[in-house]
Amino acid sequence: MLYILFAIALIILLLYVVFLKRKNNINQILPSLDDESRALLREHVVFYTELDDAQKAIFETRMLHFLNTTRITGVNTVVEQLDRILIGASAIIPIFGFADWEYMNLNEVLLYPDSFSHDFAQQGDERTILGIVGDGPYQNIMILSKHELRQGFLNKTGKNNTAIHEFVHLVDKTDGAVDGLPESLMAKQYVLPWLNLMQKKMQEIVSNESDINPYGATKQAEFFAVVSEYFFEQPDLLQEKHPDLYMLLTKIFKQQPQRKETGK
Ligand SMILES: [Zn+2]
Repeated sequence: MLYILFAIALIILLLYVVFLKRKNNINQILPSLDDESRALLREHVVFYTELDDAQKAIFETRMLHFLNTTRITGVNTVVEQLDRILIGASAIIPIFGFADWEYMNLNEVLLYPDSFSHDFAQQGDERTILGIVGDGPYQNIMILSKHELRQGFLNKTGKNNTAIHEFVHLVDKTDGAVDGLPESLMAKQYVLPWLNLMQKKMQEIVSNESDINPYGATKQAEFFAVVSEYFFEQPDLLQEKHPDLYMLLTKIFKQQPQRKETGK
């Protein structure tokens, strides 16, 4: 009898320790953004530097809330403050136009040192080498490559940003399907124009008449994620080269990203 009581006490203690550890993991970031984090945002996140002071304050608050409620775990790599900031920024950028948005379909981000093999998680997004939004057993989990995460922000003239890509899949998934059509966010009158435009622009990629990442031609969900990367990374260029796409994306995301300071 005593053994059983002892065993139960031990299990409770173990659970408590595990719970505390997980909680601590989540709460590594404090209630307000410190100077170091703000400096990292300023240095690496152009989207943030383009905001006015009031918007910057909102961005910081929302990013902090995301980081305080989402576990970020390094797998064979250390999660540095820069990684946290870049993941937090990638999460907020696509949803900055939706005032009260929270990612209800995400609990944890796993950070891998670099690309990971296809057999690690066969379900979910096909872009497994760079990032993945989990499905099946990986529901509510996102996996990112640390190398790709940083590359997306370090290269300030590129149109690619893997972390933003994956968060856009989560936005797309809100209505239940990752299909390139975020129906719950779009006003009805834009649904048909968006479907038609996607088909047209995907065809242009197939015919080699487009500067959009060819990965966008694989399916509508990837097209939506790929042009969203372009929209947030090089909005002026997208507006110039694909004004119709830019216009509809401003309706979908309810924001108009621009590059005042850095030019094109
Ligand atoms: Zn994808």
